[in-house]
Amino acid sequence: MLLKLIIFAIVAGILYRFLGGRLPFIDRKKSQKKEEHEFGVIEATSECSYCSTYITEDDAIIHQKKTYCSNECLEKAKIENRKRN
Ligand SMILES: [Zn+2]
Repeated sequence: MLLKLIIFAIVAGILYRFLGGRLPFIDRKKSQKKEEHEFGVIEATSECSYCSTYITEDDAIIHQKKTYCSNECLEKAKIENRKRN
């Protein structure tokens, strides 16, 4: 009985590593929860730090913990930061 448990633990460990440390059945549960929302899938939005445009998190460019709507805004913000320093 104990031997079976050890073998099971080893096999589980190998599978876990094989899947890159991710448990697909847990990930699937999470994504199902998102889709079940009564208003459909709502994407998180964030505001561009430079021009204040609202963008979805998929489109957002994150740089130094700030979000930007485009590379253009990111570059402009970088130039402004350089001027300030
Ligand atoms: Zn912008």
